[in-house]
Amino acid sequence: MGCIFCEFVSGERKIQLNGLPFLPLKETENTVSFLSMDFPENEDGHILVIPKKHYQFVEKIPKNIHHELNDHVISIIMAVRSYHGGCNILLNDGKCAGQTVFHAHYHIVPRDSGDGIKIEVWKKKTVDENEFRNIHNKLSKIIKSFG
Ligand code: 5GP
Ligand code: ZN
Repeated sequence: MGCIFCEFVSGERKIQLNGLPFLPLKETENTVSFLSMDFPENEDGHILVIPKKHYQFVEKIPKNIHHELNDHVISIIMAVRSYHGGCNILLNDGKCAGQTVFHAHYHIVPRDSGDGIKIEVWKKKTVDENEFRNIHNKLSKIIKSFG
């Protein structure tokens, strides 16, 4: 199946799904950023930063490219912060987490007080010390198994 981000990078696709031209915001050797199609109602736009090469999962991105990607994300954060109250940095990993384009990418969503953006809202629970320790033990074991 084709990947729309790869099509933008290769130049094969010049028009986005919303009918507007694809316009990079910033480009480095291995990364590019551009405006997402999902424009928040009360903000000027949210930005996606991608590796130019297709990697579905972040762990597949070579370290040097991830470093470049991270620098790119940080420069966007600083730019956004210079004229907004702050921003959310997101990476939706997997369909269950809301990923729809399976080319790993970071979202930088500008934020200001009262902007009405709700990134994710979920019901929270209170945990007692027993449950806290159980969750902590389970997760620390799993995390350890990944190095
Ligand atoms: P995901 O849900 O995979 O984390 O995010 C996919 C992102 O890709 C969304 O922000 C969506 O708006 C963006 N997107 C999908 N198609 C296009 C397109 O044609 N042009 C642009 N600029 N963004 C797109
Ligand atoms: Zn791709």
